[in-house]
Amino acid sequence: MKTAIYPGSFDPVTYGHLDIIERSSKLFDRLVIGVLLNVQKVPMFTLEERVEMIKKETAHLPNVEVKDFSGLTVDFARENGAGFMVRGLRAVTDFEYELQLSHTNRELAPDVDTVFLTTGLKYGYISSSVTKEIAYFGGDITKFVPPAVEERIKEKLADGGKKSEQN
Ligand code: ADP
Repeated sequence: MKTAIYPGSFDPVTYGHLDIIERSSKLFDRLVIGVLLNVQKVPMFTLEERVEMIKKETAHLPNVEVKDFSGLTVDFARENGAGFMVRGLRAVTDFEYELQLSHTNRELAPDVDTVFLTTGLKYGYISSSVTKEIAYFGGDITKFVPPAVEERIKEKLADGGKKSEQN
């Protein structure tokens, strides 16, 4: 049984992430998506919200599980009995960072290998942060995220607006 993890912030999940999830779910017997509590980033969505959105969008994939985690990614891999960690590559800019990360992780855990999938061509320009920025300025994000996620982003922005009006 080959298990892989796919770790990330997923704040929120985009069509780019979902493409990687669909494709890697076919490569491995079991895929555990790890939603990271990243103390260095202030997220738009809570961990629970991010997990819930991914669960909804991957409900049709029986070998995919979604969990949250904090701490080292290699520990999350081991806890889940995973020998592989999937990462997506969009552009050369991703490559440098991802290469360093994979070397570091292999140093920490030689038993966990990083597997890179290049992005689907039509998703190469998509990132969670650009999606949020476009939504913030009222732009169309239908090509970036599924309808349910778009709805959640709009709700967050409306809530944020209400909060700052009160302040
Ligand atoms: P992180 O904070 O770990 O970078 P992200 O949620 O931004 O978390 O990304 C998780 C993984 O998904 C990373 O490997 C990233 O390169 C990949 N990824 C993000 N967006 C895309 C996309 N549009 N196409 C393919 N891979 C992507």
